[in-house]
Amino acid sequence: MDNASDAGRMEEVRSAVNRERLVETAMSLISVPSPTRSAGAVADRLAEILANDGFEVQRPVADWPEAPAVVVRLKSDRPGPTLQFDGHLDTVHLPFVPPRLEEGVLYGSGASDMKGGIAAAVEALRALRESEALAGGGVLLTAHDHHEGPWGDRRQVRTLVAEGFVGDAVMLPEYLADRLPLAGRGMAIFEVSFRREGDPVHEVLRAPETPDVLAAGAELVCRLRNMNRSLAKTSDPWSGRDTVFVGLIESGEIYNQAPVACSVRGTRRWVTPGRTGAVEAGFRELVDELAVASGTSATVDFQVQGDAFRVSREDAIVSAFQTAYKAASGGELPFGGKPFVDDGNTYAALAGIPALTHGPDGKGAHTLSEVVEVDELVRVARVYAMTAVAYCGGVVQGPE
Ligand SMILES: [Zn+2]
Repeated sequence: MDNASDAGRMEEVRSAVNRERLVETAMSLISVPSPTRSAGAVADRLAEILANDGFEVQRPVADWPEAPAVVVRLKSDRPGPTLQFDGHLDTVHLPFVPPRLEEGVLYGSGASDMKGGIAAAVEALRALRESEALAGGGVLLTAHDHHEGPWGDRRQVRTLVAEGFVGDAVMLPEYLADRLPLAGRGMAIFEVSFRREGDPVHEVLRAPETPDVLAAGAELVCRLRNMNRSLAKTSDPWSGRDTVFVGLIESGEIYNQAPVACSVRGTRRWVTPGRTGAVEAGFRELVDELAVASGTSATVDFQVQGDAFRVSREDAIVSAFQTAYKAASGGELPFGGKPFVDDGNTYAALAGIPALTHGPDGKGAHTLSEVVEVDELVRVARVYAMTAVAYCGGVVQGPE
């Protein structure tokens, strides 16, 4: 493969990205409200846009009949790896903000999280088709509901993986642009409830051995603080360290009444992929010990949001991405850790494929003020299209 034609293909696909068409797609997606679990109408809209573009659209139900997923494949006529672009069409449950374009800046629900990013991925797909720049392999576009917690449980992305809608690597256009994450922590949200038999009672009237649920909760907070200290030794150069954090403790009605329940809520995060089961078991063990010691009964709700993941910097998708990023922006993107859990964690854990989160430098995710610059969406579309050219066609340069 000669470098002149590689560079030529990259340039062709870069210039095939159409700004107006991208903006139109983003605004059209934002204009359809789609709170998590109710993304059916926007999925229909995306399917219609892609069908009008001449793509063959599949609509796998993927365990959520409310909003069948949207799937499109673009294939070259030569063998090669498949690069997947994946995005969620649902938005957090906040009042709907309609799309608005003002001086090159796009506003509205999902502008940054992540309809803008999906529109960029769609535009990348169009540019790849028009320029016929894929020298091998193909691109798989998937879009779905059920992402944002606590309303969604990621069942749709898990089912898409189980049903084989996966590439050899996946890119997710979430609002992260200042680093290329090579690792991210797993995360679980926990709620521990300590209870005792009987009714709430005045402190002077309670039986001498009445278990103290509030003290059990307070003791748990202290033990978790100690645990957090010892977790510091488990760390990763990119994603940080293992932690346990308590953000809420709830018990009691008035100052001189012995309550019957105490609840403690927080998060547990870990850096080592594949440790989900062990992390949960260790947490439950600590709570069970405390329940026995305090004479209370304890229940643990441990909701895993995603496992930890790592991507090797030697992986072909990483060098393809950096080649594309350099062509779009002039330099390489520094490596780093992923601060949040996204569907990339699910792809890494369930499909075992490298997952790169990279999207527009959008602001205001999970607020009423989502905002993203159109220039950023254009940049992301170019990076996605050129990464596909480099990855699928083997246009990858070694590290310099
Ligand atoms: Zn998102």
